[in-house]
Amino acid sequence: MSSEPRSDVTPDPVQRIAEELPGYRAAPFETLVLRDVAECPCCGLYQKLGRIDDNRIASCSRCGQTLVRRNRSGPVSLPLAFCITSAALYLGVLFTSLMTLNLYGRERTVVLITGPLELFHEGWGPLSVLVGLATVFAPGAVIALMALILLTARRPSLPRWAPALLKWYERLRPWSMMEVYILGVLVAYTKLVDLAYVDVGPATYMIGALMISMAATDQTLDSNLFWRHRRIMKTVTLPDGQSVPVRQITPEDGALPPATHMASCSFCGLVGVFPKPVSLTGVVAKCPRCGHQVRRRKPDSLNRTTALLLAALIFYVPANLMPVMTVIKLGHGSGHTIMNGVVELWQADMIPLALLVLFASITVPVAKILGLSWMLIGIHWHSDRALVFRTRFYRVIELIGRWSMIDVFMISILVAMVRFSNLASISANGGVVSFAAVVIITIFAASAFDPRLMWDVAGKNGQVFSSSGKKSHPDAENQDAAEISREPARA
Ligand SMILES: [Zn+2]
Ligand SMILES: [Zn+2]
Repeated sequence: MSSEPRSDVTPDPVQRIAEELPGYRAAPFETLVLRDVAECPCCGLYQKLGRIDDNRIASCSRCGQTLVRRNRSGPVSLPLAFCITSAALYLGVLFTSLMTLNLYGRERTVVLITGPLELFHEGWGPLSVLVGLATVFAPGAVIALMALILLTARRPSLPRWAPALLKWYERLRPWSMMEVYILGVLVAYTKLVDLAYVDVGPATYMIGALMISMAATDQTLDSNLFWRHRRIMKTVTLPDGQSVPVRQITPEDGALPPATHMASCSFCGLVGVFPKPVSLTGVVAKCPRCGHQVRRRKPDSLNRTTALLLAALIFYVPANLMPVMTVIKLGHGSGHTIMNGVVELWQADMIPLALLVLFASITVPVAKILGLSWMLIGIHWHSDRALVFRTRFYRVIELIGRWSMIDVFMISILVAMVRFSNLASISANGGVVSFAAVVIITIFAASAFDPRLMWDVAGKNGQVFSSSGKKSHPDAENQDAAEISREPARA
């Protein structure tokens, strides 16, 4: 760690790069690609990775985020095996029955697609699209994309269209919610056994297995391996139209260049050092490895997150006050709110399930709205308190957001199953649309938020944050002296 006092006015940043990076002497007007360097996507710290052994993960030395996970297994064969298993299970889930309900001799069998179809017939179009996307389309597309990616990865060089497949995989993966759906099935089942005789079909068991095989594909996949074998373009075009040559170097000793000149690709993780200081939110360049637009921070992150949070707050009130479904038993109907569902499970002595639904449907949306608001206020006040805690909390929010869909899935199953006219029937109500809107809008809000901004405004990323001309932080922490902690991989 360098202890020399850093002056606020760096005479020439390019000169500094030239002095501190071995091998960067000949041409200062080129773009450098730093091998074995990563930017932490959560706190924005650039750090050298060095050599990472098999079965180890490298995590951020400042906030603990996993940067690289290196698996011991074959990079392609094991995930491919899990992926083929997932494909077989997915087809099985599509074409076998989920549950059969028998009410006084009248039977009704539902399959996976019945839920979205019944919602559509009842006039809940957007809701039916959402359930169909999360349970039918996204899982199928994700499995097909992954199979294609793994099959192309067996070739010596990656084809030109491989990055587009990976990009679509990463975009669709969060929308495939089989693991949440299986819990929705479980909650629906406990509500149905009160009403009638329920026969659990093979699709339910296969969804459980599919959830495991899809998680195993992700766990055994090492996406860094794809990128390491990918060719890097020889030139890169900067926003001012200037085309500069690209040179790859591995920084071994000394500090990294100033963060104002660096940007990493949010998609493939490539770290570039540019000849001029790069804008904080604008497009820096097209990634010379994957073609993705490189930006230092997510565009317009604060405004978009604030707008989405306000929208979520507007939907939050009707989501909790309005009934989400109407249950008709022997001609008498009653509306049920989200909270009624929890109380019912509790009264039926299903306490673990009641706590799970309480957590997913009540606690998670509140935690997301309050947590993101707290983070936005912290950025506004340039706070440097509890940065590591806030960053970890953000990761939790991002991870648990989708679990609130349990209630939406449960209702889609109940609506599809219980259709015995006046004897017993369940229909969806407006509350479930508001509730689904809260869940989806907060998922978008979390993904629009850039947690690195919290570190930027606290002056921890060695750069000036110039939102509305507020003060800069010359007392930046030395971001160059990072050490990567290596922990055994849990998988
Ligand atoms: Zn970090
Ligand atoms: Zn890239």
